[in-house]
Amino acid sequence: MKPAIVTSRLRPRLPHAQAELEEVRARLAEAEETIEAIRHRGVDALLVSGPKGDQVFTLKGAEKPYRLLIEAINEGAVTVLPDATVLFCNRRFAQMTGRTQQKITGSSFYRFIESQDYPRFQSLLEGLKDSGAKAEFLLSATAKNRVPVLLSLAPLEIDGVQAIGIVATDLTRTKQQEEKLRRLNDELEARVQRRTAALQKANDALADAQRQLTRHAEDLEDQVSKRTAELRQSLHSMEQFCYSLAHDLRAPLRAMSGFAITLLQDYASSLPGRAQDFASRINTAALRMDELIRDLLAYGRINSSEFPLRPVDPAPLIREVIESSEIKDAKIRVEPPFPRVQANPVLLAQVTNNLLSNALKFVSPGNPPNVRVFAQEGGDDWVRLWFHDNGIGIEEKYFERIFCPFERVCSGNFPGTGMGLAIVQKGVERMGGKVGLESTLGKGSRFWVQLKKAL
Ligand code: ADP
Repeated sequence: MKPAIVTSRLRPRLPHAQAELEEVRARLAEAEETIEAIRHRGVDALLVSGPKGDQVFTLKGAEKPYRLLIEAINEGAVTVLPDATVLFCNRRFAQMTGRTQQKITGSSFYRFIESQDYPRFQSLLEGLKDSGAKAEFLLSATAKNRVPVLLSLAPLEIDGVQAIGIVATDLTRTKQQEEKLRRLNDELEARVQRRTAALQKANDALADAQRQLTRHAEDLEDQVSKRTAELRQSLHSMEQFCYSLAHDLRAPLRAMSGFAITLLQDYASSLPGRAQDFASRINTAALRMDELIRDLLAYGRINSSEFPLRPVDPAPLIREVIESSEIKDAKIRVEPPFPRVQANPVLLAQVTNNLLSNALKFVSPGNPPNVRVFAQEGGDDWVRLWFHDNGIGIEEKYFERIFCPFERVCSGNFPGTGMGLAIVQKGVERMGGKVGLESTLGKGSRFWVQLKKAL
């Protein structure tokens, strides 16, 4: 488009009618020329035919840069009258609608929007304020093609005439991106749904498995408690049997020992020396067996009987043990203080007795026993009762073995059945405690019994 501006050409006035006629003709010619130029886009102005005749709109020189800008921008730009007649449109708008600027100019803007959108567009035009308005429409490009646009409307005044500037922003790419995004979202949603379904399935399977496991565990627990009850029952019968067997065994043993002693006492003169020796051995063996059976019975009792726990003051209990047994003459120092412990007095007395007996027994000849008993506190939790002796000591490799039934590791000729420490361990376990020792061969032993402190 030529950036020319149509201006009136001045002509000299002719005398009267002739002159007026000339003037009118000249104006008419000029007007026709101008209109023709405008129609063919030769000048920067617009001709709009209306009920009041043809109306011309021109652009003034100062607006030229804006006109150039409007042509250059990538948005569709249209100027319309309040009745939507297009006064001007830029190249981009013509492209968007697939028509020429010439064809668009002078036509109604309504032809570019869908008929169902007419009322919406009309109310936009009518309700337009200084601040303008925006709305999305489908712009009819061709019969089939529709371009989604955002129409921004703003009131304008051109040459004293009220007009409306419309900027049409092509939303095709935005819509495509929105569509792509929507598709991606849908896809994502579908994937999430698929995953959720899979997860739900896995969860259900897990819940099923858990239910089965719980059922199995319950079954197992049932079976275990049933079996435990059966085992306890058979153990109890076994213990009863062993107990009565042990009792029954003691009677013939006592008889054997009794007859051997009678032989030795009443018939010593008529028995040769060898026979007396045999009778003496029979007696010793019978007594030893009796001792073994007694220890076994004691061990069995610890396993099977009830031993309720209660707070016990160890000092008087230890003194009573020393007083009431054959160890009372020995040199044993009981060194207070002794905090109260959670124990069973019968078991604790048995444990104390066995440890003190061993402390006095396992000493080398000519070495008078020297035993100390004292307590060590572990805060509010536990109390250790220590039994220190000056005996033969124990090699570290035997520390665990000596607590097993019938285990004897000493080399000297010391009496015993090997059941004393087994009874100690079982008794301490029944009281919820622990037992242990520190010792060096030839340098005495330090046994300890750890019990819960009584609060
Ligand atoms: P027993 O005293 O009848 O031999 P124990 O079960 O009481 O049986 O002891 C097992 C073994 O542990 C003993 O034969 C001995 O070798 C060793 N023992 C126990 N106490 C002591 C001790 N105070 N000093 C040295 N050795 C000991």
